[in-house]
Amino acid sequence: MKQALERIKPPSDGSFIEYVDGSYRVPDKPIIAFIEGDGIGPEVTRAAISVIDAAVEKIYGRSRRIVWWELYAGHKAEKLLGTLLPEDTLVGMMMAKATLKGPLETPIGTGHRSINVAIRQKLDLYSNIRPVKYFRGVPAPSRYADKIDIVIFRENTEDVYAGIEWQARGKEALKVIEFLHREFGIELTQDTGIGLKPISEWKTKRHVRKALRYAIKHGRKVVTLMHKGNIMKYTEGAFANWGYEVALTEFRDYIVTEKEVAEQYGGKQPGGKILVNDRVADNMFQQIITRPWDYSVIVTPNLNGDYLSDAASALVGGIGIAPGLNAGDIYAFAEPVHGTAPKYAGKNIANPSAAILAGAMLLEHIGWAEVSNIIWRAVEETIASGKMTQDLARHYENVKPLSTTEFAEAVIETLGSLKQR
Ligand code: NAP
Repeated sequence: MKQALERIKPPSDGSFIEYVDGSYRVPDKPIIAFIEGDGIGPEVTRAAISVIDAAVEKIYGRSRRIVWWELYAGHKAEKLLGTLLPEDTLVGMMMAKATLKGPLETPIGTGHRSINVAIRQKLDLYSNIRPVKYFRGVPAPSRYADKIDIVIFRENTEDVYAGIEWQARGKEALKVIEFLHREFGIELTQDTGIGLKPISEWKTKRHVRKALRYAIKHGRKVVTLMHKGNIMKYTEGAFANWGYEVALTEFRDYIVTEKEVAEQYGGKQPGGKILVNDRVADNMFQQIITRPWDYSVIVTPNLNGDYLSDAASALVGGIGIAPGLNAGDIYAFAEPVHGTAPKYAGKNIANPSAAILAGAMLLEHIGWAEVSNIIWRAVEETIASGKMTQDLARHYENVKPLSTTEFAEAVIETLGSLKQR
């Protein structure tokens, strides 16, 4: 990758976050990148930036502020720079280290491959972290919604998402089919499309390690390895085994396994220890519905994590409020979990909460936790006071929906009235 910017320039009034000896050094005026995204992306990203700026000012007054740097991906990049994912954007994201990103369109079954997946792979953002938490006032379908507080760690670079796929009847697929037949006697018909599911020890272990560190830092009491290892033994099964290996070898003083709890502690989790257990994927889905309070951090490969996080978000009231952070060792970008919601694009009615909370996750990631906390509180208080966008308001009889910008203004107003903790 070229390490020079050819067509865009960073702003001159801020400085870059540095990464030194395993941690960030954040200047008072850090340059943080943003990508508007497609569809509703520009609306929700702009709304998020306005709330984040207000929160930074609330906490730090004039001593600190974010200097935003726009980078381009998706349709805007294609229009301005002739390509959906310019090299400059990747270089810029690496220079800034932290990026707030709007959703980007990916056509289904045809057209360009996912830009999101490409960014995650190129910057090696190996964990996708998705908190799923109930907000007071959000109409939620689960009767246990207020007991849901789960953080999902979805692996981001491997699995069937790695993009190793060949179209049915194409020469590559036919070659693989012939190879499988010749070498292993596997019979596949010629009209078969092929996808590979790579899951490696090293990538699994760094991902599980990140989740365990997170659990320790945030005082979470349970870490669950979700997998489909009964069927896919050497990929998903290996994921669970490697996960236990990391927990038992690198975090021995912090953790206890479910087996140990049963055999050595009379079935009662000892105080001060994190319980590490595992659940088969289909069971995991019913467990988060029937007994969500038993789960706190769920670590899983890529595809399971994608399904699980949308399903879990739905339990607490939908993906309009679900944020996510994609993080590796040095670089990170935060984004809403939802997509471009094309039918709402340009109408100023999309819910910007997920984008706002994604910004909060990004700030926590760089160490501005007090700003992050106040943003989470402000969004929750605003919704609890009956101010919400149409996706939530439509579930109530007497709530007038706010537009995207009105909701962002309402959050900023709430911020003004909150006391710092
Ligand atoms: P979607 O964009 O998330 O929209 C699905 C539905 O979710 C919408 O019709 C709407 O539901 C609701 N919704 C999502 N975000 C909302 C918001 N902020 N406010 C209010 N309602 C919201 O999923 P999709 O239609 O499957 O995907 C559209 C495009 O986005 C695709 O090209 C896909 O590849 C892309 N995508 C990108 C990302 C990303 O960039 N990380 C993630 C997911 C999808 P109602 O119709 O019920 O109102």
